[in-house]
Amino acid sequence: MRKLVYLGLGSNLGNRLENLRRAIQELRAAGVAVGRGSSVYESEPVDYTAQPRFLNAVVEAETELMPRQLLQRLQHIERRLGRRRGVRGGPRTIDIDILVFGEHVMHTAALTIPHPRLAERRFVLQPLCELAAGLRHPADRQTVSALLAGLSGGGQVKKVAGSRYLRPDT
Ligand code: ADP
Ligand code: MG
Repeated sequence: MRKLVYLGLGSNLGNRLENLRRAIQELRAAGVAVGRGSSVYESEPVDYTAQPRFLNAVVEAETELMPRQLLQRLQHIERRLGRRRGVRGGPRTIDIDILVFGEHVMHTAALTIPHPRLAERRFVLQPLCELAAGLRHPADRQTVSALLAGLSGGGQVKKVAGSRYLRPDT
């Protein structure tokens, strides 16, 4: 069955905007029908702060893949785009996280859906809110806009490019 998913993209190494765009191309090639994309935001690193600022965006997509298969494809794309595992939360050419997967709620060692830190991160909630302000968190039932309004802190974010930068023809 086709599921509506939201993916969070982040990059803080190399040509960050190009990395986001390449990730979207790779997603499409991997059976993930990427639709709308958010604006692009620049964010201060939150967990491990001694690293360059990130560019972040969220995309909406449809896929027939199961959550675990989707995670595998995302990790494959991360490796293809040159991501090397180093410090947890450290610098990376690309990070692709599953934020929301339909109404799915799951918690295993490898995969937690919705993303466990979704509600704490402004660099996720702000772009997600552009695409799906009224979407309810499948577990706590709060809307994305309510989660964003309730956030204190969560890191500084600044819009640096419009959503057209994530469209394939630009
Ligand atoms: P982070 O995204 O937290 O900075 P990583 O991208 O290195 O760190 O991911 C670490 C692990 O998080 C992955 O190996 C993956 O198994 C796990 N993980 C758990 N839930 C999710 C999710 N919703 N989306 C992506 N990865 C997840
Ligand atoms: Mg990740």
